Amino acid sequence: MTNVPEIFGSMVFNDAVMHERLPEDTYRSLHKTIEDGKELDITVANAVAGAMKDWAIEKGATHFTHWFQPMTGRTAEKHDSFISPQSDGRVIMEFSGKELIKGEPDASSFPSGGLRATFEARGYTAWDPTSYAFVKDGVLCIPTAFCSYGGEALDKKTPLLRSMEEINTQALRILRLFGNKEVKHVWTTVGAEQEYFLVDRKLYNRRKDLIFCGRTLFGAPAPKGQEMDDHYFGAIKPRISAFMKELNEELWKLGVYARTEHNEAAPAQHELAPIYLTTNQATDQNQVTMEIMKNVARKHGMVCLLHEKPFAGVNGSGKHNNWSIATDTGVNLLEPGKSPYENAQFLLFLAAMIKGIDEYQEMMRVCVASAGNDHRLGAAEAPPAIVSIFIGDDLAEVLDCIETGKSYAGAESGRMEIGVSVLPSIPKDSTDRNRTSPFAFTGNKFEYRSVGSSQSIAGANTVINTIMAEELKEFADELEKAGKDDFTATLNEIIRKTIKEHKRIIFNGDGYSEVWEEEAKRRGLANLRTTVDALPAFLLEKNIKLFTSHNIYTEKEMRSRYAILLDTYNKIINIEAHTMIDMARKEILPAVSRYVGQLSSVLTAKLDLQNKMNEKIMHNMEEETVLALSQLCDKAFTKLVLLETLIAKTDYKDDLARGQYYRDSVIPAMESLRKTCDQMEQMVAKNYWPFPQYGDMLFNI
Ligand code: ADP
Ligand code: MG
Repeated sequence: MTNVPEIFGSMVFNDAVMHERLPEDTYRSLHKTIEDGKELDITVANAVAGAMKDWAIEKGATHFTHWFQPMTGRTAEKHDSFISPQSDGRVIMEFSGKELIKGEPDASSFPSGGLRATFEARGYTAWDPTSYAFVKDGVLCIPTAFCSYGGEALDKKTPLLRSMEEINTQALRILRLFGNKEVKHVWTTVGAEQEYFLVDRKLYNRRKDLIFCGRTLFGAPAPKGQEMDDHYFGAIKPRISAFMKELNEELWKLGVYARTEHNEAAPAQHELAPIYLTTNQATDQNQVTMEIMKNVARKHGMVCLLHEKPFAGVNGSGKHNNWSIATDTGVNLLEPGKSPYENAQFLLFLAAMIKGIDEYQEMMRVCVASAGNDHRLGAAEAPPAIVSIFIGDDLAEVLDCIETGKSYAGAESGRMEIGVSVLPSIPKDSTDRNRTSPFAFTGNKFEYRSVGSSQSIAGANTVINTIMAEELKEFADELEKAGKDDFTATLNEIIRKTIKEHKRIIFNGDGYSEVWEEEAKRRGLANLRTTVDALPAFLLEKNIKLFTSHNIYTEKEMRSRYAILLDTYNKIINIEAHTMIDMARKEILPAVSRYVGQLSSVLTAKLDLQNKMNEKIMHNMEEETVLALSQLCDKAFTKLVLLETLIAKTDYKDDLARGQYYRDSVIPAMESLRKTCDQMEQMVAKNYWPFPQYGDMLFNI
């Protein structure tokens, strides 16, 4: 039996370890640095580094790395050993404060979107003391931010930290206006539920599409899919169970609060939910989780697929980003309160969210845009590309009463006391779940469901934090101006006005329906279907203003991120197209041809025989199959040649034009080629088909 409390966090240089191992004054100045975001004194840094190194060596570490999150969306590490040569030929293990605080990886190969020319390739990494260091595979990993030499952010963490700081500032202003003097810090919190698929490694190794693209580019549906709903929450099979057990243990050692695990809707699909943490820590932990999932799966002879849509026709994978905002005194600001004071404050934060999501809905779409997620959003199993908020019928009624000045009728038992003068009470537990909504209020937090399973959650949370900071700032400005005497009236008016002006973003119905698409259009909501449609919105004037005014991104950083996102999209489609061409040309068409050849030789012999037998038959299997397959084969070949021609084009005006061309010409050609190949797959004898099929991969685990 695993002793969970004993192994939990055993590989983490967490607060308890710091307290135990650092001199009291060092520990306290480190804490002060973390809380106030001040710069760390070098003597403190040296002391921390020394303690960290000794601890890490005890945990089996020989190397250290600045662990960072470049714009690839994955994590990066470059290992340095602790050894320091001595004059007598021996070595000692050393690690200085300077090495802890700052690193200079040769970063020329990380995407910078033009921020950094290769001749000034140096970037630097800076320790983020708000996320704990940990030992993984014999390496002390130090969470860091990654910047260019000129100070521009080259990673996902830096803007996230900036956004957390900004929302802290603005939320504190609001709390002070409500007379709260105790709270010193406001944190945003996140729990990111992670979906994933597991496939057998031997089968995976035989599919180039999985190897190169992480998803299947061909594949006819298996006779059985997820229609029986027999996988969702089903009993976990022994092989998966062994995987989950080890995964949990590895994550627990690294201090990841993996809490629940279950089978998801699609066969071979699973989910892991952690306990929530501050946004920054949750982001780091989610990156670690994805990495450990892949490693542990390999050890169990499987491969963990994090792609948003590994298999057509069955559910894709997402990441439900549960977001809230809480004080250092332990109060969740999105929790409807018990007192009038708390209710009013809750409604103000809710109003800020409604206004923010409405005003920056395009940005919400941009931050989840990727080639992989395009297959998922709007595919009637995942939230639509249209951004809207679900708040449930009860809360909707409350808002309606506030807007129209009606008195709130639903005051049955179980409802709470009314809010500041005219504000009505908030129903308890009105947390009805609507699975079709991209952004759902679930009682005391918002769940953003559009994030893709392979994406870093940093982007989405940077956006949510920033738009909240902006709206809270506007509200605080107005309330401060109004002064104490007019506080309540102004507050009520802000909430009422916000609901009136921004209620179009609230939708409690079926987000998968076509009716909603039309309705959303009437409401003037954006429907940015693909990444290429969405990305230009990043550079809308209002968005540049939003991020630059809160110092989250400089305009230069935004342009570089836009360039990287677009370039990544184009590269992915390009790789997918080439992989398809490769598989069709070298595997599928030759296989079909071989099978047709085999049938043809039987057919010749058979026709001979039939002449003698003089018996009339209804269907000649070989003849009909040869005929149909030959036609399909030529059709597929024609489509293949077309795709090759399309992908050979190189004279694009710019990357956006290239992306649009991929979206409008290349992707449809890929889909068309797939369709014909999948038709052939359903007619070709199993042992002729060149790679494992859906049924093999989805049901054999
Ligand atoms: P479910 O019924 O979907 O399991 P839970 O309340 O258990 O709902 O939470 C689902 C996810 O939301 C978990 O990852 C959890 O850690 C996270 N979560 C819960 N409360 C908060 C919060 N205040 N802030 C951020 N995430 C939260
Ligand atoms: Mg959920």
